[in-house]
Amino acid sequence: MKENPKIVIIGSGPCGIGAGWHLFKNGYNNWVIYEKNAYPGGLSASFKDAKGFTWDIGGHVLFSHYKEFSGFLEEVLEKKYLVHNRNSWVRAIESWIPYPFQNNIHYLPQKEFEECFKGLEERSCGICKVSNFQEWIETNFGKGISKYFMISMNQKMWSYPLDKMSTQWIDERISPVSLEAIRQNMKGNKIDSSWGPNSTFIYPFFGGIGEVFRRAVVKFRDKVRLENQVYKIDLDSKKIFFKNGMEDKFDILVNTSNLIDFINILYPQNPSIVKASKRLKYNRLFIVGIGLRRERKDPRTWIYFPEEKYIFYRVTNLSNYSPYNVPNGHMQSYSSLLTEITLSENAPANRKFFIEETVKGLIDTGMLSKADESLIESIFSLEVENAYPIPTVDRDEVLYKINEFLESQNIYSRGRFGSFKYERGNMDDCFMQGFEIAHRMVI
Ligand SMILES: Cc1cc2nc3c(=O)[nH]c(=O)nc-3n(C[C@H](O)[C@H](O)[C@H](O)COP(=O)(O)OP(=O)(O)OC[C@H]3O[C@@H](n4cnc5c(N)ncnc54)[C@H](O)[C@@H]3O)c2cc1C
Repeated sequence: MKENPKIVIIGSGPCGIGAGWHLFKNGYNNWVIYEKNAYPGGLSASFKDAKGFTWDIGGHVLFSHYKEFSGFLEEVLEKKYLVHNRNSWVRAIESWIPYPFQNNIHYLPQKEFEECFKGLEERSCGICKVSNFQEWIETNFGKGISKYFMISMNQKMWSYPLDKMSTQWIDERISPVSLEAIRQNMKGNKIDSSWGPNSTFIYPFFGGIGEVFRRAVVKFRDKVRLENQVYKIDLDSKKIFFKNGMEDKFDILVNTSNLIDFINILYPQNPSIVKASKRLKYNRLFIVGIGLRRERKDPRTWIYFPEEKYIFYRVTNLSNYSPYNVPNGHMQSYSSLLTEITLSENAPANRKFFIEETVKGLIDTGMLSKADESLIESIFSLEVENAYPIPTVDRDEVLYKINEFLESQNIYSRGRFGSFKYERGNMDDCFMQGFEIAHRMVI
């Protein structure tokens, strides 16, 4: 590798910003970020609508497994954030069950509770060899929990067959459960909700989650070139071509865009790599935000909806995260709810239908009343092309092959869709993936 290589980063989401942050902090100068959007943040951006409501791209909360990301947050947010305890619930069988569902089955109606408890007693094993996610659910949680929550929730969230998904990503994403813990929780009628890395989280005071990445970019504004969509990369000349007619060259390329799209813009094309990339699967998202002209006193942070009768799988009480998510911070006069609907890779998105079903669902659950329909001040909607990279059973074999090829070209694909690893796909993980690859390149 030549001295002082030119590092080009595609994308200004948390991963691209993580790479840039490391280079900036270490005084490295020969680098640039190209971003297709007119704003930074990627999936972690936020938007203020014409009525003054702020919306994130689905419920986003900040937590950190890494001291580097924690330090970054402290530095860019300058203490302008709020700290929250997760207060999350599940709506099933006309009941509200604290999240994680499996730890709180004593909140279910008696019949369903007994079914879930019996299922746990009868489950085939705690830790045993299974070949896909569906089997993992059934063997770990038994029939009842699988039926009332785990299978339906995951089918809805992934929009992908669970028996074609792997299990190695589960580790920190699904709470384990023991019969003894349930017995203890029943005794004290206790809510057991402390599990997981996001049980406490922070959220920016102003500007939604996207404020973090907007503020970061201010530190190295001259290095971030917005509205520059990369559309072709020549591997022989190491040239990048942009939709707006511009060109640039790289010695090292860090890609944070969707790996499948990225492989498609590499020339000369490598047919076996293109073919391998087509085996990677992902889903899409449609979000609907409802801005209401009244206060809603509901202390919950977010709620999961596993049942088919609701179109959304999750609703976030977004105005609880910061008063400035509603116009002028007037929590006494406004509130906002953010809902998420997942779509499979090729499913059509029908905006009008999704909005109507969302409002209907919110009324059916009692989160809105019929009278609230006339108090809807704002409706925000967004179709999100890349939502969840799916951990399919053959994913790692495909990724190994692709990365071996890319790295032979001095190209490193990182981040939620760049690495295609859901288990390393949160903001802290993606920031660190960018940070780590930049560190490796310039030490
Ligand atoms: C519904 C939902 C909820 C989530 N909730 C949380 C949460 O609570 N906490 C958490 O930590 N994480 C959460 N996440 C994950 C979080 O959004 C991601 O970790 C993060 O945004 C990924 O960062 P990234 O930089 O890897 O990718 P992205 O954010 O996808 O950024 C990639 C960037 O590349 C740009 N790009 C793409 N193609 C090109 C091109 N050809 N040329 C130039 N630029 C290009 C894109 O415009 C984008 O800005 C959630 C994600 C979703 C979908």
